[in-house]
Amino acid sequence: MASSKRKLVLISTPIGHIGSGAGGGVELTLCSLVKGLVELGHELILVAPKESKLPKGCSGIHLEYVEGLDQPSWQHLEQSSSVVIPPDAVLPKLLDKALEIGKTADAILNFSYDWLPIWLTPHVECELFHLISMGDVSIVMKNLIEDLANSFPSRFAFHTYRQASDYSLVQDPVIVGNGFDLAKYQPQFLTGGPLGWAGRIAPEKGLEDAVEVAAQLGDRLLVWGVKEDCSYASSIEASVPSGTIEWRGFLPTDQLQKELGTCRALLNTPKWNEAYGNVVVEALACGVPVIAYDRGGPGELITSGKTGWLVPPNDIDLMVEATKRVNEIDRQECRNWAKTFASQEGFAERVIEWINAGLEIKTSNPTPLS
Ligand code: UDP
Repeated sequence: MASSKRKLVLISTPIGHIGSGAGGGVELTLCSLVKGLVELGHELILVAPKESKLPKGCSGIHLEYVEGLDQPSWQHLEQSSSVVIPPDAVLPKLLDKALEIGKTADAILNFSYDWLPIWLTPHVECELFHLISMGDVSIVMKNLIEDLANSFPSRFAFHTYRQASDYSLVQDPVIVGNGFDLAKYQPQFLTGGPLGWAGRIAPEKGLEDAVEVAAQLGDRLLVWGVKEDCSYASSIEASVPSGTIEWRGFLPTDQLQKELGTCRALLNTPKWNEAYGNVVVEALACGVPVIAYDRGGPGELITSGKTGWLVPPNDIDLMVEATKRVNEIDRQECRNWAKTFASQEGFAERVIEWINAGLEIKTSNPTPLS
């Protein structure tokens, strides 16, 4: 079965349209996977919020647009929050459309980190799979994922072991990593450039620590990303000498990689258990070493001393010291790591292998594991 061509319906994130940046790393992950699966010859239908735009090279896919209000992102709600579905929400409409088209597809692959699509897993005839994009940020989501991933383990995949460790799982989790269109990232192998930081500008991403490192070194920090929380961004700026932060805005990948490639290092300072850390691998793909907290996905992706430095979480002084040693890192090794472990092709192959294995379990053993 492994070589058969599948018809798959993909459900996009309900947090903003693709291209807006509101969906964070899920947007790029989805685009890479679409391209990788199309290149493998699979038939894809993507159900996504209106105005979603796929990058060039995704021409082999059919897009179904759905209109409605964005979901609030779970990481910005209280841990104990109840499930929220706004009036006229896009999420149920994405599901309506996906379940209708899914009747004639082999499987539905859900990218939405939300309660409703996951809860539906045993209640619909379509074969639902979930690529979980976050660690534990909410009690109701953690409980649901644990319950269903323990009953239907083949239907869930995670990006890293560190992410999956947030959930109490009976079986070893399926880990698919992530993938990038590496032809888009052109290493420049410069060593004397500024420091960089990229990501959504929101408290869980910890920009303030990277800014503090740059300030202690008397350096500039180039910052790319959507300002999700403007008052948070302003308070960080006010805490360091003016000129420390250089806001570069939210750029499309082509431009981001060009600017990122001029940096001597990317600083990555998450305050939460980052599921993967797309920007970490994007920097490596540009031949830029990453200095990160040894926490979540980045702690699993970076080989300290080889592709960057890992320091204990929240230890700004050690990050300053590690940043001084960045030129000990061979920038070609960074690029090599991305090619070996994070290619678009490899990611698509791992995902299709997971889905194929899950579909086989369904036919041979339709009873949920207890
Ligand atoms: N990003 C971008 N342009 C920018 C800054 C960031 O396209 O100017 C994208 C980046 O490519 C990455 C995403 O924003 O895919 C951030 O994802 P990450 O996994 O690092 O964090 P998340 O937002 O998912 O928590």
